[in-house]
Amino acid sequence: MKYVGRKICFVFALVVTSNLGFGQPNEITVRFIGNCGLYLTDGELNVYVDFPYKSGAFGYMEYDEAQLDSIKEDAIFIFTHKHGDHYSRKHTKRVLKAKNGEKFTPWNISKLEKRSETIPDFDFEAFKTKHRFSFNHYSYLITWHGKKIYLSGDTESAETIGKVDDMDWAFIPYWILYDAEENDIEIKAKMKALYHLYPQQKIEGEIPDDMVVLNVQNQLIRIPY
Ligand SMILES: [Zn+2]
Repeated sequence: MKYVGRKICFVFALVVTSNLGFGQPNEITVRFIGNCGLYLTDGELNVYVDFPYKSGAFGYMEYDEAQLDSIKEDAIFIFTHKHGDHYSRKHTKRVLKAKNGEKFTPWNISKLEKRSETIPDFDFEAFKTKHRFSFNHYSYLITWHGKKIYLSGDTESAETIGKVDDMDWAFIPYWILYDAEENDIEIKAKMKALYHLYPQQKIEGEIPDDMVVLNVQNQLIRIPY
């Protein structure tokens, strides 16, 4: 019995030291900036999705200067399309100049699929999806430390996401939920995050346990791996 006790202690000590040793717990954090704007990091790699956008564009969420100042050096910037509520040419240009980093849009997205092969534990897949008034719109699937994170962007239909299996987190605008329901499409994600709400927009009804509504800017989602 004494031996077993010591063994457990040893394992426990090992876990504690390895956490201290690497300085980072094993998790991906996702910070919701606004609209479809997200900041994802595992403590090593910094990824921004649909940010910087044009603050307040089309009546959607605003953000302040500090948000731009806080952008990390050498980050990866991914855009689903180039509408103002997802992308600001001016801010992106300025950020890239000041803080380096790499920009990927529907126009060069195949480069990120190549680039992801050089990033450990990070896989990237792009799906061409439809969005009104935008002839070039993509949704993305990031597989990072084995966690599958789907980024829907502004697409209207749940058709594409319906074909993706075993997602850990699906970031979707609320209309994708309605479309999925109407067309009997299952969204196979353990957790769903609803984004792209208007600043004062309310979601009616009870929020199920496997869903997070991103209506508060800077709220955090933690994805342990
Ligand atoms: Zn939009």
